[in-house]
Amino acid sequence: MDGNVIVSDVSRFEEDVLKSSMPVSVYFYSDDCLPCINFSPIYERAAQSLKGEMKFVKVFRSHNRQLAERYSVKSSPTVLFFKDGTEVCTRLSGYITHPDFKSSIEKILGRACGVKNRTVARCDVLIIGAGPAGLTSAIYTARSRLYTIVIDSSLPGGQVASTFHIANYPGTNGVVRGIDLMENMKKQALDFGAQIDDMQRIIEVSMESDEKHVKTDQADYHAKSIIIAAGAQPRKLPADGEADYRGRGVHYCATCDGAMYMDADILVVGGGTSALEEALFLTRYAKTVTIINRSDSFKAARSYIDEAMKNPQISIIYNTIVKKIIGDGFVQGAELENQKTGEVTEIKTEGIFVYIGNEPNSAAFRGLINLSSDGYIITDCNMATNIKGVFAAGDIRDKEVRQITTAVGDGTIAGIMAEKYVNGR
Ligand SMILES: Cc1cc2nc3c(=O)[nH]c(=O)nc-3n(C[C@H](O)[C@H](O)[C@H](O)COP(=O)(O)OP(=O)(O)OC[C@H]3O[C@@H](n4cnc5c(N)ncnc54)[C@H](O)[C@@H]3O)c2cc1C
Repeated sequence: MDGNVIVSDVSRFEEDVLKSSMPVSVYFYSDDCLPCINFSPIYERAAQSLKGEMKFVKVFRSHNRQLAERYSVKSSPTVLFFKDGTEVCTRLSGYITHPDFKSSIEKILGRACGVKNRTVARCDVLIIGAGPAGLTSAIYTARSRLYTIVIDSSLPGGQVASTFHIANYPGTNGVVRGIDLMENMKKQALDFGAQIDDMQRIIEVSMESDEKHVKTDQADYHAKSIIIAAGAQPRKLPADGEADYRGRGVHYCATCDGAMYMDADILVVGGGTSALEEALFLTRYAKTVTIINRSDSFKAARSYIDEAMKNPQISIIYNTIVKKIIGDGFVQGAELENQKTGEVTEIKTEGIFVYIGNEPNSAAFRGLINLSSDGYIITDCNMATNIKGVFAAGDIRDKEVRQITTAVGDGTIAGIMAEKYVNGR
């Protein structure tokens, strides 16, 4: 037992999982896995709040290889769900967020997981999203002695917490682990007095009047000003079979799942900096990495293009998209379509890593605030939106360059402007 989580292994799996009268969630983890470090607290908290309703089991994957193979678990973290001894629901793997995990649990329990004691909080500034933009805003507003609350639908850290190495953030002596950078930002915000409420699902937002209101599944927040810093998430591959093979060969996070493809032949889909960066990272494990690029050139930083071109493990197929994923439970290949000739060919592959851009997490604000045609929040250069007292910062904002440095820059401006707004300056 580890808190409310049962530590299981091959000898106890039948008793702990297959014969359980309660639904069971089984978390395969590794100790060297960054996304597992991110996901473990989410798992432990779910185990605590659903005690007596659902069992939460964890299995150390590398000590239980046979068990992992029996259930075709290829990466850490992977979460399986069992009911009456049978696997049910779609398994989760890679960078698992709290909303993904919660919605799987709700499916298996057949009800929404609410909170018994809702809280009400009043603050000067409510920041939505605890990535680099939101935490930077919090550092500024809390340091200005404004009562600042940051809410996040998952754990603090944003996209950076699942990025292995950051090599371009100034002042970090070359390379810093994403998780360490974000832990420092979080600590700095907390040290200045900000409150961080994680794992909050937004249900309702109203921002028009002077007092803004955000209702989550756990609390009611009332604020004088709001900074929206909810970031973005990877765009899903628009190919037949994507949903069936997600986590079974189709991946969106090289740091999370790359190590599973030792000596394999894999594909990377995309033509931007992230695609090239991740393709280069994946050559540590894979024998070959084939980049499938929709156009005839890359929209990426020159240094990454040069490095990829020089790498003997990397080859590139231009003007091509992935049309269909082929497999038998796991990815075995893909159908490719040439965008110029229309020719369809098949390629064998064990894994497909997708980096075709991001989608803004702006669904909760649609219809309430001005968005661009692709869903990004429109602001002026002071991060002000069309609603008085509401600012936006970071990747969720309509802009050209989305990096940690630009998120931090936006967060700085939004924090300072929110402070001016609240203090009537
Ligand atoms: C694979 C990959 C590698 C990258 N590598 C680099 C790099 O090397 N250098 C670099 O500078 N940049 C890199 N980036 C880009 C960088 O991560 C982003 O630009 C940066 O994280 C944006 O910060 P943000 O705070 O705007 O958003 P995010 O980091 O996306 O954080 C947003 C936060 O908001 C939360 N959230 C989302 N929706 C809601 C909601 N409805 N309610 C409450 N909270 C919500 C999320 O859980 C998250 O914590 C990389 C990105 C990826 C995907």
